[in-house]
Amino acid sequence: MSLFCFLGRHKPSVSSMARSKKGGHAALCDNCGVPLEKIDNGPWRPAQAPAAIIQARR
Ligand SMILES: [Zn+2]
Repeated sequence: MSLFCFLGRHKPSVSSMARSKKGGHAALCDNCGVPLEKIDNGPWRPAQAPAAIIQARR
């Protein structure tokens, strides 16, 4: 994991960016693959995912 990811500053991958079902945007972090979400003009944040999914990605 990069230092930026450790600090919560993930970098959304442009190729994975898509409209999310909630009306915002969704993407995967370019560095660590964590699912990110963005609502309106807010910052990118790690998506609220069930713990089982997060563990399966490790
Ligand atoms: Zn990341």
